[in-house]
Amino acid sequence: MNKSDRPSSIFHLPSSICVYDYENKLYINLTNRCSNACTFCIRSKQDGLNGHTLWLQREPTASEVIAALEKRNYKSSPEIVFCGYGEPACRAAEIVEIGGFLKRNGVPTRLNTNGQGNLINGRDITSELAAAVDTVSISLNNSTAERYQAVCRSRFGLAAYQGVLDFTRLCVPKFKRTVMTVVSLIGETEIEECRKICEGIGAEFRVRGYDSYT
Ligand code: SF4
Repeated sequence: MNKSDRPSSIFHLPSSICVYDYENKLYINLTNRCSNACTFCIRSKQDGLNGHTLWLQREPTASEVIAALEKRNYKSSPEIVFCGYGEPACRAAEIVEIGGFLKRNGVPTRLNTNGQGNLINGRDITSELAAAVDTVSISLNNSTAERYQAVCRSRFGLAAYQGVLDFTRLCVPKFKRTVMTVVSLIGETEIEECRKICEGIGAEFRVRGYDSYT
């Protein structure tokens, strides 16, 4: 989302945060950049979650995130999730550094992503990510490139959808768990089409509630 797309009120909000809690887990907010501009994106509706402002005044360094995690008793979180308020794969190097720190400290991790990380970075980053993160959860959203682009409005155009599928195929043999998600709102027929695509790739399939953030 571009600055010009954001609600004007965000420019008057107090401090933003790079580590936040949601449903008893800690989440890491690395960036507000994203290759998509989804019609349903929570960022166009609210400025954050649980009273946390998630629009970043600047992107945090990996060291700043680790320091914030240490202040939040991170070892008690059952899982720590790279998620929002933008696409985490825009900051692949920081995911690797922070994920490596969490792995060394025995904390399970997950990356929630739009699956365009290889397109964004212009190379295959799946091995690096899988070495640092346990689970990858990829938003499939729809069963065709046209439907996907109509809803997700990727800057990569129709090529984005194939990029998501290719990214997932590369993740399956490398991550402990590779999950693809859709939201229940797309309807039973579309859900079943997506299920077939997901199963063909070998990833786990999950249907999320429409109001589910993660
Ligand atoms: S991929 Fe996620 S962060 Fe990016 S626009 Fe879509 S919902 Fe928002």
